[in-house]
Amino acid sequence: VDTLILTNLAQVVTCERPDIGCVREHAAVVVEGGRVLEVGEAASLEERYQRAERVDCRRGVLTPGFVDSHTHAVFGGWRAAEYGLRSRGVPYMEIARRGGGINASIRDVRSLPEDELVALAIPRLEQLLDHGTTTVEIKSGYGLSTEAELKQLRVVRTLAASTPLEIVPTFLGAHEFPPEYRDRRAEYVALVIREMIPAVARAGLATFCDVFCEPGVFTPDQARRILLAGREHGLTPKLHADELENSGGGELAAELEAASADHLGAISPAGIAALGASPATVATLLPATLLFLGKASYAPARQLLAAGATVALATDFNPGSSPTPSMPLVLTLACSQMGMEPIESLFAATAAGARALRLPDGHGTIAAGAPADFILWDLTDYVEIPYRFGAAPIRAVWKRGARLRSSL
Ligand SMILES: [Zn+2]
Repeated sequence: VDTLILTNLAQVVTCERPDIGCVREHAAVVVEGGRVLEVGEAASLEERYQRAERVDCRRGVLTPGFVDSHTHAVFGGWRAAEYGLRSRGVPYMEIARRGGGINASIRDVRSLPEDELVALAIPRLEQLLDHGTTTVEIKSGYGLSTEAELKQLRVVRTLAASTPLEIVPTFLGAHEFPPEYRDRRAEYVALVIREMIPAVARAGLATFCDVFCEPGVFTPDQARRILLAGREHGLTPKLHADELENSGGGELAAELEAASADHLGAISPAGIAALGASPATVATLLPATLLFLGKASYAPARQLLAAGATVALATDFNPGSSPTPSMPLVLTLACSQMGMEPIESLFAATAAGARALRLPDGHGTIAAGAPADFILWDLTDYVEIPYRFGAAPIRAVWKRGARLRSSL
């Protein structure tokens, strides 16, 4: 068995708790069989593991790999032309009317062959890895027909088998109403419930079932019915909730014990209280989306934390509203725009993200038994991760004990 000892570290941030009690100096980490064997005082571990392969981390900072718990990373083309139009003041509804917006991504996923979608996604996932992400959730939701949703989820499965990232698949057939069902909404909801969910579950293609619950898209009642149907088929609920307008999504996620309620830019005080009282449901905040859409206000992270909610951070990586692969940028937004402390933001991007994906065994932390997923930063203090924004000064990344990126 290959045993590694990562040593000569300025800090090890274990992310076992959301405060500076998890920042350790003079520590080393021992890895065996792809998992953390021990975290402890460097001098004593070096003494005890003299035959382990020694990795000199040159006074860098070691954190868990990022768990990006909300992305739409499988898509066809980028939508830069749409960004150009929006920056000139053309409203999204007008762009959608001209066939742009999500309609462009739906056309792509429906028309492109599976292997082409895989080939398009691989370099994008490599970029996530370049920014320190070692586990990523990927949603369907650009197919919006049974056949195309299954195709998009098969692409996710192929990516899981062919890239070093750990990938968690989510079925999001209720992302939007496809053009052919815009005026037959009840029929589309029935299609999702009666045909798509059973087909996805039968094929074993998803862990979670998600719904975009927002005024003008899926109502709370439709979302509840879809998520309950998913749950009956073994798919754990997740919810896009209260992104730009409030519709009681936070409360609904808590009621259904969803794994997470995501976005929450417009959550109400009642929704905050509901998530605060629901330990099963993580509040996942996606500030890069609000930045990119030019919004002036962000989700109430401090109020959610004060209410007792677990807060996670993710990129929402997608071609329409958040084309960034960068978790470090998301941390900066959390600290600068939402008043989170750097240590809270790091916990939110690792351990809390793992909780939003219901991952076991200390995933998202550096503790005995946890998967050996690490980022070695070319920094001397973890606060520099959000502080030096726009940069991702990473020296090395490990996934399950395998070194994937390295300038050591
Ligand atoms: Zn989303």
